[in-house]
Amino acid sequence: MANKDHVVVAGGGGFIGGHLVAAFRRQGYTRVRAVDVKPLDQWYQRFDDVENLQLDLNLRESCETAAKGADEIYNLAANMGGMGFIEANKALCMLSVLINTHLLQSALKHGCKKFFYSSSACVYNADKQKTFEAPSLKEADAYPAQPEDGYGWEKLFSERMCRHFREDFGLYTRVARFHNVYGPWGTWFGGREKAPAAICRKVIEAKFNGTNEIEIWGSGDQTRSFMYADDCIKGTELIMHSDILEPINLGSTEAVSINQLVDIVEAIAGAKLQRKYNLGAPKGVNGRNSENTLIKRYLNWEPNTSLRAGLEKTYSWIHDQYAARERGEAGVVRESSASR
Ligand code: NAD
Repeated sequence: MANKDHVVVAGGGGFIGGHLVAAFRRQGYTRVRAVDVKPLDQWYQRFDDVENLQLDLNLRESCETAAKGADEIYNLAANMGGMGFIEANKALCMLSVLINTHLLQSALKHGCKKFFYSSSACVYNADKQKTFEAPSLKEADAYPAQPEDGYGWEKLFSERMCRHFREDFGLYTRVARFHNVYGPWGTWFGGREKAPAAICRKVIEAKFNGTNEIEIWGSGDQTRSFMYADDCIKGTELIMHSDILEPINLGSTEAVSINQLVDIVEAIAGAKLQRKYNLGAPKGVNGRNSENTLIKRYLNWEPNTSLRAGLEKTYSWIHDQYAARERGEAGVVRESSASR
């Protein structure tokens, strides 16, 4: 039977928001509202049976429109990107505070029952991420606060605002700290893409152009874990409907170095490329991994798609997009009115 709740996905034209909207449709939700500032033809996934609104959620009045009648609001709207983007756009990243602030106020005003905020592993204290041996970051490691400048400060502040809207005003809020999410239907070129998509694209580019070379940002020794989009969506829904009051990690524990990430993509592509290391490029902290004791205790579950399996799907999707673009078929890059 169709779910009767009215769900709103802020950032529905983006990567994770698009997957969340698609998941609600598959689950039979009939009242789904997707909101994004991008023109509709630039949304990664767009469905005609969903209420699609192009609104700038920095503005209070847009948030009012978005929140009206909503039972649940998922805030996945933010100015974000990989290290190259967030290091060069600190003020823009911090301005996302307007989105969450106005959405919280509007949720409260319109009697929204549940509110979800997508935070990030970028809230963690930089001092705890200095080694290349992928330190596992537990939730308490966000304090004392020394997050990623700009983007991470906004996330930490907005987490805190969700907490105080819950404590002071009684608004039901849940917060997950996403650790590097990847998968199809996301940014893969243009400067905002993150490492998995960027490396897939670079390997594909090298194969198409026959250059046999790949540029890697930093020494390639930096370690990270990467969570497949399906796990992110499942975790988001579980956390939203759980009793977990404090911000919680939502990430994979399968940490790899960037060099190992390139190894996996090369194996998928059947390529072996000459690696050129750009030591001056943005590279973020040296090591970071998710610590999943809490999520396993609360949900008896953790993200579990293997990096190899997730990257195979991601590589194949980016390969199709790249090939379509090479043929001049820009329209294939985005899905429209996709079937359930
Ligand atoms: P994305 O850039 O693909 O999606 C974000 C969407 O928000 C975009 O479509 C953008 O147009 C929209 N947006 C930005 N400003 C807006 C505004 N003023 N009004 C309305 N819409 C606006 O990013 P994503 O990867 O889907 O990320 C979703 C959320 O998850 C973000 O909050 C992000 O910070 C968080 N997150 C993502 C990752 C990751 O690895 N992808 C990791 C940690 C946290």
